[in-house]
Amino acid sequence: MSTPRLIINGAKGRMGQALLAAARELSLPVAAALDSGDDLAAALPGADVVVDFSSHTATGKVIELAVAHRKALVIGTTGHAAAEKAHLAALAARVPTVWAGNFSIGVNLLFALTARAAQVLGDDYDAELVEMHHRHKRDAPSGTAVRLLELILEGRKLGPEALRHGRSGITGERTRQEVGVHALRGGGVVGDHTVIFASPGERLELTHKAGDRAIFAQGALRAAQWVVDRPPGLYDMQDVLGLKD
Ligand code: NAD
Repeated sequence: MSTPRLIINGAKGRMGQALLAAARELSLPVAAALDSGDDLAAALPGADVVVDFSSHTATGKVIELAVAHRKALVIGTTGHAAAEKAHLAALAARVPTVWAGNFSIGVNLLFALTARAAQVLGDDYDAELVEMHHRHKRDAPSGTAVRLLELILEGRKLGPEALRHGRSGITGERTRQEVGVHALRGGGVVGDHTVIFASPGERLELTHKAGDRAIFAQGALRAAQWVVDRPPGLYDMQDVLGLKD
C-alpha cells in the first residue's frame, strides 16, 4: 500500500481528531488539517488524497476542488438527500474515490450478512432496523442505517415506499411489505445498528456496536492508502476490503 500525503477536512471535529490520531499511529503524512474557513484549494497541490469528514453541506465543494486538481478522495460525510448524493457521486467518479457511509470492518461485514439474510429469509420474516447514536448527531436515520435499508429492500425486492419511520398512533397491523426504521439518540453512543428478522416462530438479530471512532478513522485511512493508486471511479469499503465476490 502507498503512503499518500493526506488532507484531513473537518479536522477540528470528532472524526477529524480521530483521523489525525490514526494518521500519527500509521505514520501517514498530513499535508494539511483543515476546518471551516480554511483554504482547501491552496492546500490541494501538496497532497494526494482528501479525507473529508466535515459536513454534508461541504461535500459538493470538496469534490469539485478534488476533481479540478485530480486528487483522490475518501468521503465519510453522511446526511445527503438521495438525488444530491447521486449527482455528487457521479462527479466524484472522475477521480479515484472511496465513499462509504461507514468505514468500520465489522459494519461492512454486517452489510454482507444483512443482504444474505434478506434474500434467504423472504417475506415471512418481518424486517426492522434500530439504530442509536450520540446526542450531537444531526441526521437520521444514520448513513449506515440507510445502506442497511437499501440492502434489505434489494433482498426483498421492495421499493423505498416500504419504509416506515418511527411508527406512532393507530398504525394498523404490520404488513409484510413494510420495513420499520427507528432512530434513537442519546448520550455518547458512537453507533449501534441492529437488523431484526422476525417470523412467528423465531427471530434473527444482527447487531454491530461501535465502541470507538478510531475504527472509522483506521478504515478511512486504509481506504486512502488503497484508493490513491486506483483508476478514477467510485469505490466503497466492500471494494477496499475485498468483500465483493
Ligand atoms: P463534528 O461536528 O464533530 O465535526 C465536523 C467538523 O467539520 C467540525 O469541526 C466543523 O467545523 C467542520 N466543518 C463543517 N463545515 C465545514 C466545511 N465547509 N469545511 C471544512 N470543515 C467544515 O462531526 P463528526 O462527528 O466528526 O462527523 C463528521 C461527519 O462524518 C458527519 O457527516 C458524520 O455523519 C460523518 N461520519 C461518518 C462516519 C463513517 O464511517 N462514514 C463515521 C462517523 C461520522
